[in-house]
Amino acid sequence: MRLAILILILIAVISLVRWYLQAPRKEAEALSTEMVQDPNCETYFPVTEAVTATIAGREHFFCSERCANEYRNKHNPV
Ligand SMILES: [Zn+2]
Repeated sequence: MRLAILILILIAVISLVRWYLQAPRKEAEALSTEMVQDPNCETYFPVTEAVTATIAGREHFFCSERCANEYRNKHNPV
């Protein structure tokens, strides 16, 4: 009898842990699906992979540091 109760508790704990682990993962997925456009190469990519740079007082999202630098050079010629 004790063994059956232990197994039931174990199943309950496992399903609780699974639920707990899945909750934050869904949140992260929702964030990563938000797409932004690189103003330099015009590619769409997830905002979580973006390189942010403030150019001429505005915040822009770039796919890479290289694109950020290229765009900055185009709009802020030294
Ligand atoms: Zn780019």
